[in-house]
Order: sequence, then structure tokens, then C-alpha cells
Amino acid sequence: MGSTHTSMAARQPLDAYGVLLSHGPSTTSELGVTSIGTETRRDNPELGRLHLRARGMNSPKTVWYAEDRHDPRDVVRKYVDVNPGVLDRPHRAIVQLFGDHSDMLAWAWGEVADEYDVERLEHEHGETEHGGTCGLCGEDYEYTLPDHLEKDCEA
Ligand SMILES: [Zn+2]
Repeated sequence: MGSTHTSMAARQPLDAYGVLLSHGPSTTSELGVTSIGTETRRDNPELGRLHLRARGMNSPKTVWYAEDRHDPRDVVRKYVDVNPGVLDRPHRAIVQLFGDHSDMLAWAWGEVADEYDVERLEHEHGETEHGGTCGLCGEDYEYTLPDHLEKDCEA
């Protein structure tokens, strides 16, 4: 975060949206403010607020973006950058996590996922990505057993 942006925000604390446009997808503190008020959000309908809640993510940071100005792939990269805990789950769970926000961001994650080597992390955890049969409910699952147990298991 450059000092230019900080001083801009200090002089014009209400122009967080202007800082956002020039800086790219940003956390709240990077915009030089402690929060974005409902008034700012109302006056700037393109202002997007990405805040995901998921197991294992403590105090996730919010990422602000301008829907028609910022590439959704950059929004996802920024979110992962400031919330690395998002990567501590299988690729498909991350797709669903971003998909809870919008189909656009789910697509964007799919586009940038290779940059983060999520598959390697799965293998380090001894999981398989090719499915199997659950010993608890007898159903076949197409991804990983932990993923099945969390989402689909009927046992
Ligand atoms: Zn099961």
C-alpha cells in the first residue's frame, strides 16, 4: 500500500471510492478508512463488498471493488492475498465459497486457481480428488471424503 493513497485518504476521508478506483480491489484499511458507510455504498451502486464467512477463517478481511471497473479475477486474487485461510480447503469448496457471493467470482476463482497450487495442498493432506465410496452411508462421492462428509453425507 503506497503512501500516496494513504495521504489522499487522509485529506479526503469521504472519497474512499475514488481511492478504490485508482488503487484496485482494496481492504477497508487500504482505503484509509475504518469502515465504508451505507451512504457511500448508496451513492456508488457499483461498489462491491466481498466478505466471505467460512469455517477456519478467523476475522476474514473485507475486500472492496468496483463491479464494472475491476477485473473479477483481480478481486479474487486480492481476497486470497489478504485471506490466505481461504486456500485451506479443496478447490471445489473454494468455488462454492466464492459462488455464495456471485457466479462471476466463482468463475473468476476457476480462472486463477492454478496460480495457487491448491491441488498440491490436497495431496499433502493425503486426500484424493477422484472420489470413492463412503463407508458411513454407502454413497459414492465424486471428490474427497472430507468434502462428502461435510456437505452430502446422509449417515
Ligand atoms: Zn456418506
